[in-house]
Amino acid sequence: MTARVAVDTAVCELHGQCVEAAPEVFAFDGGGQLQYRETVPDDEVTAVQDAQFLCPTQAIALSRDA
Ligand code: SF4
Repeated sequence: MTARVAVDTAVCELHGQCVEAAPEVFAFDGGGQLQYRETVPDDEVTAVQDAQFLCPTQAIALSRDA
């Protein structure tokens, strides 16, 4: 099973809590833009949920693949 991650760049303010909570999924590139993996395995879902909780703008969506 995998899950899908999506960041709404219209509301993301690049605070970086997601990068701290789930560095295996989220990272800033050299230009300071947020990069992230759109598909994550089950064992990384908890970290993404932590990132969701910590994101001050609630920009992170997580959904299960069917
Ligand atoms: S924590 Fe939220 S607002 Fe901050 S960089 Fe991550 S997605 Fe964007």
